[in-house]
Amino acid sequence: MKSAGYLLIVFLLALCCVGAGKTWRFFRRKKLLHIPASDLWKGFLATNIPLYTYLSDSLKEELHGHINVFLDEKRFEGCGGIEINDEIRVTIAALACILLLNRKTDYYPKLKSILVYPHPYVAEDAGMLGDMRVNAHSVRAGESWSTGVVVIAWDQVNCRARNIGGAYNVVLHEFAHQLDEEDGSGTMGVPILGEGSSYATWAKILGGEYHNLLQKVDRDEADVMSDYGATNEAEFFAVATETFFEKPLQFRKAHPALYDQLKGYYKLDPAGWLSSDLK
Ligand SMILES: [Zn+2]
Repeated sequence: MKSAGYLLIVFLLALCCVGAGKTWRFFRRKKLLHIPASDLWKGFLATNIPLYTYLSDSLKEELHGHINVFLDEKRFEGCGGIEINDEIRVTIAALACILLLNRKTDYYPKLKSILVYPHPYVAEDAGMLGDMRVNAHSVRAGESWSTGVVVIAWDQVNCRARNIGGAYNVVLHEFAHQLDEEDGSGTMGVPILGEGSSYATWAKILGGEYHNLLQKVDRDEADVMSDYGATNEAEFFAVATETFFEKPLQFRKAHPALYDQLKGYYKLDPAGWLSSDLK
């Protein structure tokens, strides 16, 4: 009986600690969300992320707050001789946080570290990325691991993030994988959908579009989405996310139902931002 009472006390103390930790984090985040971005940060964002210039003032303000929280909670590590500076941290954090705008978020709760290489790197390890086995000694521009790590090659961010005409964006891609695996069931191309979204509709539309892309790739037909999206369902969701933000007008025109699903999930309408800018 004594040991049962002791266990109960330990359990209650642990519950109190978890509760106190959550409360502390809630207030810390609340404070960080209200710290405005410096002109230096805004300069990095405007120069490195063309999409940033299309955000409304309120979304920009929300993004600045998210960056503060992200930088407070995640660790950046330079690899391959690169030194982490504010431009690298702010640019990568901003791209990761664009995926979190306008909806409830817990800031990639499983993610602890972002490893940054100067260039595409040779990975020495083999393992699973989604359903795909990746070999050791392969050259990679980025990767996302369920163990709390995202790896990014900075020169890929630096050159590609500046080009809104291209659908390639390694940071959006890898952080879409993080969202995909947030429910703990691995990367399957199905993130946690918010209220009002239907998993059945998501599966029907994304499944159908994935098979269409597979057939297009087999026929050697071009699509606004990269062929890499036909690798498996997880890569399809990551590539669709890149295309949604980087080539929104072409994506909406070519894949209206898929665009609508991503618009419902991300609660953002990048094609709408660009359309109104073109008027
Ligand atoms: Zn991928």
